Amino acid sequence: MKRLKVEDLHVAFDDGPVLKGVDLQVEPGELWAILGPSGCGKTTLLRAIAGFLRPQWGRIWIGEREVFGPGVWLPPEKRRVGYVPQEGALFPHLTVKDNIAFGLPKGLWCETRVQRMLELVGLMGLEHKRPAELSGGQQQRVAVARALAPWPSLVLLDEPFNALDAGLRRSVREDVRQALKATGATALLVTHDQEEAFSWADRVAIMRSGKVIQTGDPATVYRHPADLETALFLGERTLLPGLREGREVRTPLGRLPVDPRSPARGREVVAVLRPEQVHLGPGEEGKILRAQYFGHDLLLEAEVAGGVRVISRVLGASLLRPGDPIRVEILGPVMVYDKEADGRAPVAQVDRAGAS
Ligand code: ATP
Repeated sequence: MKRLKVEDLHVAFDDGPVLKGVDLQVEPGELWAILGPSGCGKTTLLRAIAGFLRPQWGRIWIGEREVFGPGVWLPPEKRRVGYVPQEGALFPHLTVKDNIAFGLPKGLWCETRVQRMLELVGLMGLEHKRPAELSGGQQQRVAVARALAPWPSLVLLDEPFNALDAGLRRSVREDVRQALKATGATALLVTHDQEEAFSWADRVAIMRSGKVIQTGDPATVYRHPADLETALFLGERTLLPGLREGREVRTPLGRLPVDPRSPARGREVVAVLRPEQVHLGPGEEGKILRAQYFGHDLLLEAEVAGGVRVISRVLGASLLRPGDPIRVEILGPVMVYDKEADGRAPVAQVDRAGAS
């Protein structure tokens, strides 16, 4: 499998620019997730890499071969890219076997390859069925098998698990991950689902407004978002106004150590606390307002002195109930961002992911 390199890629449609200088380098055999809000240009990036649209500017290499650049244009069928669209887009009149064999030269080799692919995605014995006779999850597995069958240099997956319900989605994506790893594939998965990106990918690229804002392994991106907007995008958090004083930040919850990877330069900052960093125990500093139970974990919202609201994640169950008196402890250093970093991110004492 090959390396992918994208340099300063620009794509515009009639309504204006969509990709505004995307840079990306994916090493052979790595699985990447492109994570970003709806409309930020994720699908457009995949389509440009596959050769389904012609960018205005930039360069793309697949392996050593430049497939797009000044004076260079390799048509999609020559790029050896496997593409899995949102809804598998199988040929309804063909059997599973013929769908998988579609891009392969006929012959004994083809038979063997189809069998290998069926094995890889766990569909042995279903080769003579047609797509309409399969479940949504099975159809997506066929789509992945079809993309992998011709030994592509690169596999691109555009939100392929969207149509599946939560449980099935998790098992299909794990199986697809294993199938890609077993073939040593270099792959890019587009998603706006943070859990999917973090659990599936070796590395994550955060996209926003037509640009890649940050790349890194999932834990680094989650713990050290490059800017406040990315921090706000990546899940539940408590925001606290703060004044930076050396390696500490003074907040309504007291002095907290600053994470040295924080990008803030100024004195007036916003501290971002993840729910895992907030520990609530019995005490007299405030009280529990709400408890949201998710089965594997629990989110507690509490109000402490001065009306500051914090969100805490507890694994399993908690003895604390709404109304119970608590004290709050912050674990580990906190990320801080310049208050006026981009003027757009709202600064509130508490803010929930997805809330405006
Ligand atoms: P989603 O997660 O909702 O699929 P996305 O991040 O994949 O979003 P894109 O599908 O790449 O976003 O679209 C980015 C922007 O480009 C959108 O505003 C979209 O309307 C516009 N766009 C995409 N394709 C075309 C096209 N062929 N012609 C005109 N505009 C387009």
